[in-house]
Amino acid sequence: MDVFGLLGNPVGHSLSPPMHEAAYDELGLEARYVTFEPEPEAIEDAIDGAAALGITGLNVTIPFKRDVLERVAADELATRIGAVNTIDFTGSGRPTGHNTDAVGALRALRDHDVTLENARAVVVGAGGAGRAVAFGLADAGATVEIANRTESTAHELAGEVPNATGHGLEEGTLAELLANADVLVNATSVGMKTDETPVPAEALHESLVVMDAVYQPLETRLLRDAAEAGATTVDGAWMLLYQGVEAFELWTGASAPVDAMNEALRGQLSRS
Ligand code: NAP
Repeated sequence: MDVFGLLGNPVGHSLSPPMHEAAYDELGLEARYVTFEPEPEAIEDAIDGAAALGITGLNVTIPFKRDVLERVAADELATRIGAVNTIDFTGSGRPTGHNTDAVGALRALRDHDVTLENARAVVVGAGGAGRAVAFGLADAGATVEIANRTESTAHELAGEVPNATGHGLEEGTLAELLANADVLVNATSVGMKTDETPVPAEALHESLVVMDAVYQPLETRLLRDAAEAGATTVDGAWMLLYQGVEAFELWTGASAPVDAMNEALRGQLSRS
């Protein structure tokens, strides 16, 4: 029996167990996915304990994504992003740390036929999700405009990401940036469980692909506005799905049953 899990605090709301267990069922794998909620001061012991117990893989969420960097051999992308969301214990040495949020966002966009090479992308938000998305897009060959409420954070991130520029969110900025953009990603928490949007509706247009990292609700105000403007929309469940797919494939070496995982995930989420 392989044991996988999620480390976070709190993790009660997690959608990962049904998504991963649907994959095990589909492929007939003898495995379980469980949630762990260590106290913040016990995070290092938790990782050492997981390794000692023979746990196969862990996802990591708030507030531990940065803390675990110290405890694992982080790969190059996770090191640049400064956060680990997937730990792999299957090797013989130190557990390895990865960030599948970045690749998850790219796979979500590519799944919707978005070409990222030379694309002009605007990322709103420069927290954990914003960092992963910005590095991912830049690695895929896009130029990245990063706009964040705290402007200094956007400039700091833009200093680390190739082909990126930082901005604040003052009036008019997004309209100007989006006028010539191909892709917009909301990586702020605005719209999560509220009917708010970080992007003025009039800045959206039909040549844009708009992806929201927020997945509760699935139809955020931003995505409704985008659809009304004729833009292509990609909801936050796609990114969540593909970060899980990437983690599954990393741990098992098998091709993930994406449709079964998608169905299990969407079964837990409400549209509005
Ligand atoms: P985080 O590290 O706390 O960052 C939050 C970001 O939102 C910051 O850029 C913050 O700006 C901005 N923000 C918060 N309130 C704002 C407001 N009222 N107006 C403008 N900007 C505001 O959080 P995170 O981990 O990046 O997560 C962000 C969202 O992405 C959450 O909804 C999370 O659920 C979602 N997410 C989704 C996936 C997925 O797979 N779909 C993966 C990861 C995260 P400041 O810097 O100015 O505070």
